[in-house]
Amino acid sequence: MFTGKDIERFANIETPFYYYDLTLLQQTLSACASAAAMYNYHVHYALKANFNPVVLNAIKEKGFGADCVSIGEVQRAVELGFRAGKIVFAGVGKSDREINQALDADIFCFNVESVQELGIINDLAASRGKKARVAIRINPNVDAHTHHNITTGLDENKFGVNSWDLPACVQALKDAENLEFVGIHFHIGSQITSLEVFRNLCTRVNEFAAWFEDKGFVVRVLNVGGGLGIDYHNPDAQIPDFSSYFQVFNEFLEVKSYQEVHFELGRALVGQCASLLSRVLYVKNGKKKNFVVLDAGMTELMRPALYQAYHQIENLSKAGKAAALRYDVVGPICESTDCFAKELELPETARGDLFAIRSAGAYGEVLASGYNLRERAPALYSES
Ligand SMILES: *Cc1c(COP(=O)(O)O)cnc(C)c1O
Repeated sequence: MFTGKDIERFANIETPFYYYDLTLLQQTLSACASAAAMYNYHVHYALKANFNPVVLNAIKEKGFGADCVSIGEVQRAVELGFRAGKIVFAGVGKSDREINQALDADIFCFNVESVQELGIINDLAASRGKKARVAIRINPNVDAHTHHNITTGLDENKFGVNSWDLPACVQALKDAENLEFVGIHFHIGSQITSLEVFRNLCTRVNEFAAWFEDKGFVVRVLNVGGGLGIDYHNPDAQIPDFSSYFQVFNEFLEVKSYQEVHFELGRALVGQCASLLSRVLYVKNGKKKNFVVLDAGMTELMRPALYQAYHQIENLSKAGKAAALRYDVVGPICESTDCFAKELELPETARGDLFAIRSAGAYGEVLASGYNLRERAPALYSES
């Protein structure tokens, strides 16, 4: 929620820019950390959701680990002071250089996504005289009931080892002298809003853990990934309900005394704390449509163009005024998908009005591109 004071502060600031509410970020991080502590759960923050240094620093200070999907993210996490022993590294396509550098950084664990990758990590570790800790990322074929572009745990998805490849995985692990098996890993998708989905995941995790132990392995780590969604339709409502989320796992996951449960949350920790601020360049009133042309576009916030994502859009200059017209809210980029909302009811809008595109903290600033030779939008932070 923007106060009159915020809007005054924005008056002389050039748009577009990202605005971070650091108080809200702190509240969210604290809520997650204390809910996880109830069950001794370990939470790794998924850097790809937002690697803004101010945000990352706040997350590190709270004691979270780091979940990385490239060596760049591993190195950023190390530079910012995340402990190597709390860094995990997933990804279907880790290059040899990335694997070597992660071995040198002595990260906690590689989340391995194919039988072939196991062999490669073993060979690279051997040539460095090291043992690599690995968890097997399993594709559990659980439907995340989310947008098809952000589902990752179905048979048709590229991520993880499919169940029919697990016997080959076991053989590769038994043959590998330079691998230390630590456990199993899952990540079934993003923006998951039904806790039922996580309950189904627990059932599958229990089955796979039992299967591995039956084959003679000690499954020390159960890493259930991330994916908890946020309420994009109510940006000022409650922060995500971490207590209920962790409760599902407490209730349905079978955890032995020697096992640790790990999570990899991204969006739920950072999604709500940022907005993209933009001003209206032009208003085009047509016969069939009215367009609001903003100075921000898909180069600043790609989610709507990439997966038809919804963000609440507010005309801050006309706050409190009743909706009067329907507008398509679009950006300046030369692509028809550069559209934030269609047929949105707004107060009568004019050139210069200040707009806020809400809940842009996750997969927002990090997905910015230089397309059309656009300059990078800067970040501004709440004063706290
Ligand atoms: C992206 C990603 C996450 C985080 O997903 P969110 O939906 O942002 O919580 C966790 N684990 C892995 C392996 C990922 O790729």
